[in-house]
Amino acid sequence: MHEEGNSGCCCGASGASGQPEQRLGWHEYFMCVAHLISRRATCTRGHIGAVIVRDNNILSTGYNGAPSGLPHCNETNCKIYRSTHPDGTVEENCVNTIHAEINAIGQAAKHGVSIKDADIYITASPCIHCLKVLINVGIKTIYYDKPYKIEHIAELLRLSGIRLVQVSAENC
Ligand SMILES: [Zn+2]
Ligand SMILES: [Zn+2]
Repeated sequence: MHEEGNSGCCCGASGASGQPEQRLGWHEYFMCVAHLISRRATCTRGHIGAVIVRDNNILSTGYNGAPSGLPHCNETNCKIYRSTHPDGTVEENCVNTIHAEINAIGQAAKHGVSIKDADIYITASPCIHCLKVLINVGIKTIYYDKPYKIEHIAELLRLSGIRLVQVSAENC
């Protein structure tokens, strides 16, 4: 009688050792999706991806780039502007670009998808402008991978009660 080896099943779910690979948890799963989405970003200053989720379902996605149909930064050039934060630090941003979080919100609006009481996974913590919009559309928890000037949003986080939680995407 032929006996099956333990080299893994046909779906490839077993590792080379024959041990089952560890299944991704939900937080890692959505953060990995956000990283995949960030690979569509076109602003040369940084690639960010965002996924809006409720009850473990993806409602909407976004990455940073120019408005639809307009030239992207990787085809023209970034147009950089500088702004000074009240604490005196100078920040540089690109005029061409819509941030990933706002594009995810826009995609939901375009298709009439409610995102109230949803969560968002972003490859980097939001800037203060995006955070204000995330608060107003009813996002409950922001999961981020890389910190970006969190000191600029600390007060707004405290006053609004929106949660900010770091999730690593090391296993993607
Ligand atoms: Zn740009
Ligand atoms: Zn932003």
